[in-house]
Amino acid sequence: MNYLPEGIDTSTLGILKTPKKKAFSFPVPDTSNIQKKPIDLIFPQRIHNMKSHVCTTCYELIKGFDDVVSQKEFLISGMCQKCQDDIFDEEHTQS
Ligand SMILES: [Zn+2]
Repeated sequence: MNYLPEGIDTSTLGILKTPKKKAFSFPVPDTSNIQKKPIDLIFPQRIHNMKSHVCTTCYELIKGFDDVVSQKEFLISGMCQKCQDDIFDEEHTQS
C-alpha cells in the first residue's frame, strides 16, 4: 500500500506525530527590545525574568529552545521550553 505522495513516507509522518526533541538547539532570543504588555500586570516580573533568562512560571534558568516558534512564544510569555510543552500538551489532550 502506497497512498503517500512522492517524497513523503511513513517516517516523515512519524516525525510530525512524535514530540520534537532537539535539545535546545535554538538559543534564547534577544530580549533587549522587550516591550511592556498588558500581561505585565499579571506577571510584573516578566521582563526582568526574560532579561535574566529565567522562566516566568517555573523560575528555571532557560538554556535554549527547540524551534523558532518556541523562541517567539518566549518573547511573549517568558516561558521556558518545558513549560511551553506542558501547556501545549494539555491543550492537545483536552481537544
Ligand atoms: Zn518553565
